[in-house]
Amino acid sequence: MMTEKEKTIVAIEKCRRYESTEVIEALKKIIQPFGGLKAMISPGQKVLIKPNLLAAAAPAEAVTTHPIIIKALVEMVHEAGGEAYIGDNPGSDDQQQTLEISGLKAIIEQTSAKALIFSGNSEQQVFGFQERIIPLARELEQMDLIINAAKLKTHALTGLTGAVKNNYGCLHGKIKKRYHMEHPLPLDFSRLLIDIYLAVKPAFSILDAIVAMEGTGPRRGKPRQLGLLMASTSAVALDSIAAEIAGFLPAQVTTIAAARELKLPGAFFEDIEIRGLKLEECRVKDFDRGPGGHGKISRLIASFPLAYFRNLLYARRPYPTVDSERCVECGICADNCPLQVIDCSSGIPEFELYEYIRCYCCQEHCAEGAIKLEHNRFPSS
Ligand code: SF4
Ligand code: SF4
Repeated sequence: MMTEKEKTIVAIEKCRRYESTEVIEALKKIIQPFGGLKAMISPGQKVLIKPNLLAAAAPAEAVTTHPIIIKALVEMVHEAGGEAYIGDNPGSDDQQQTLEISGLKAIIEQTSAKALIFSGNSEQQVFGFQERIIPLARELEQMDLIINAAKLKTHALTGLTGAVKNNYGCLHGKIKKRYHMEHPLPLDFSRLLIDIYLAVKPAFSILDAIVAMEGTGPRRGKPRQLGLLMASTSAVALDSIAAEIAGFLPAQVTTIAAARELKLPGAFFEDIEIRGLKLEECRVKDFDRGPGGHGKISRLIASFPLAYFRNLLYARRPYPTVDSERCVECGICADNCPLQVIDCSSGIPEFELYEYIRCYCCQEHCAEGAIKLEHNRFPSS
């Protein structure tokens, strides 16, 4: 029988706004149950703070981890004697633009943290769902510790994106596109995400849920004030509690479903101990869970016992389609489609195939919000 001592801790605190003093105070409270950053960092150690930098989006859009949280973490790492680095492999090819628009360039200048530009691969062997080689960014090898600073958002493919999926940005280059292509079904993709998380091994995870994203996340949903900051040594436990707060069934978040298959620490609610706020104080009844978490069919699928059939049923996901009124014909969606099934040669995108993977990379990368998701139709121009 599991004892109280063996439970995975998740700490939750209120933080109403992105204001430095308030954020630092809340961060200290959620890190305290783990002994504080000083207990984790030895003087002189290199610490990577890994934000969610999905796209070149302003902080108010709730697409990226808020810069005030990153700034507070940098200051706390420095206070603990560590050397802070900030690094991610953003969706956009223009990393400098992403850093600037997300507010992180200013934070790097203000705090003397160093930007870590991922420039090559280092192969890591993992034994998760299968023995596989994960090509992580080479620069990760130079780091002594990784703090995973994630953003809570809905995700059309996995239900929710939080601490587990944030590790996907530790891959280098275009491998992210290839992985999407090779793992078209949500549960398969989530098993890969778990293996990547096991390869990255962040020491600690923070979840920015002060303003989360609901609806059609992770790029085009709506900002939703939750006023919460959360932390754990287990990204799986953190996402499990975040899913509870947002009203998902655990199996609707396929990264949690995958973690349960491996019986990872924090995958089951009864293995988690919550510190700080009580879960009842945090639940949001009307959170818009988006395409992955709504309706009776989605709930039925989530409770379906056999992973294989559940995977097939999840394939009933919506298709992307183009709003020609909003489209500025930039071609970025085509550049980022792993299957290269978008043809922008005559301006407005045309989807060339009916059988494709619905990874939603096109929607994530469209800065104009011109790609929408629709059920029960094949894609059209
Ligand atoms: S749909 Fe978006 S990304 Fe694609 S061409 Fe139009 S504006 Fe650009
Ligand atoms: S068209 Fe969009 S959803 Fe379909 S494979 Fe390409 S990027 Fe993914």
